Amino acid sequence: MKVNDVFIKQPCAIYERRRFLELGLSSAAAFCFGCSKAEGKNEDTAVVAPDWLTEARFYEKINDNLVQCLVCPRECVIPDGKRGYCGTRENRGGTLYTVVYGRVVSAVSDPIEKKPFFHVLPGTKAFSIATAGCNMTCKFCQNWTLSQSKPEELRSQPMTPEQVAETAFASRTKSIAYTYNEPTVFTEFVYDCAVAGKNTGIHSVVISNGYINPEPVERLGEVLTAYKVDLKAFSDTFYRDITGGDLQSVLNTIKLLKKLDVWVEIVHLTIPTLNDDSRDLTAMADWLTGEVGTDIPVHFTRFHPMYRLTNLPVTPVSTLERARNILMEKGMKFVYIGNVPGHPAESTYCPNCGKKLIERGYGWSVGDVYLKEGACVFCGTPIPGVWA
Ligand code: SF4
Repeated sequence: MKVNDVFIKQPCAIYERRRFLELGLSSAAAFCFGCSKAEGKNEDTAVVAPDWLTEARFYEKINDNLVQCLVCPRECVIPDGKRGYCGTRENRGGTLYTVVYGRVVSAVSDPIEKKPFFHVLPGTKAFSIATAGCNMTCKFCQNWTLSQSKPEELRSQPMTPEQVAETAFASRTKSIAYTYNEPTVFTEFVYDCAVAGKNTGIHSVVISNGYINPEPVERLGEVLTAYKVDLKAFSDTFYRDITGGDLQSVLNTIKLLKKLDVWVEIVHLTIPTLNDDSRDLTAMADWLTGEVGTDIPVHFTRFHPMYRLTNLPVTPVSTLERARNILMEKGMKFVYIGNVPGHPAESTYCPNCGKKLIERGYGWSVGDVYLKEGACVFCGTPIPGVWA
């Protein structure tokens, strides 16, 4: 299998036709992919072949017909023949199955800076894989064609964990990245790929919304190198209304990952009027400094009108700079601005002497690196991260 094979990012025409017939809608409505999704809820039964089914690892049987999924805080109670909210876990006869194990819909080699990880193996490539589905329904999702689709709507390539690791190794990537859709919904496959990768000398990094229960995090913590968590806002209202998740669960995940000694970076996609309030950003800074320390890198990234939020403007650069200043004034040491190519805040600076240590340019390129054994070459201050 070649890297850069992107298997599919389009809905299946047969499925769309079936939806058209079922719903009795006009052709215009039926072929509007976004319109046929009811807020990402994919609980209804779908038919997949038995070879799509792998028993899930985090669930309880409630009785002969009901099971409860324990992967994420949603903790769906799923009747026989139905799926959970994310559309990736199906109850068949009292056993819960994942229908996305090994169903890779996208595989591509990316710069690790694109994830973004700025303190993990700079300048290397990550073999990036995705399946279908998500346990949130963010109105600004950049990858909604993957995240809000049912697995059977997308053409997928079956891959074993060993094949993923071998392909990553053959592609000379240093890590496997689980990304584009939410890795929480394929946590069993993430774990097995990470084990296979570890056996091949390859790191694993997760790009996630952080909306996951403690038990799967603890299992993943055994095998992961790094975890990027979207801290989408510091507001319960935003989480409830815009994402369908909840803030406290995400904060719990960040704290647990730190405790497990998994490297964490945080991304805040800054959306005009929705999550850019200075009081919320100050509260976020206070929480970070008080609960997980000042070393965690935070990336304020620029929003572009997308999916169901096309009414809002692109984030002004001044807003991102204001957010960065709020965190840095509170003592956060590594605060970046993203999606603004060429901005000086895309580079890494020593928090002690202020010298530029990692130069980042256009297209996630990395220039000179002034680190020696994880420390600033100018003043010797240790710079936290995974550098080797
Ligand atoms: S992963 Fe979350 S959303 Fe999906 S079935 Fe399990 S509890 Fe529900």
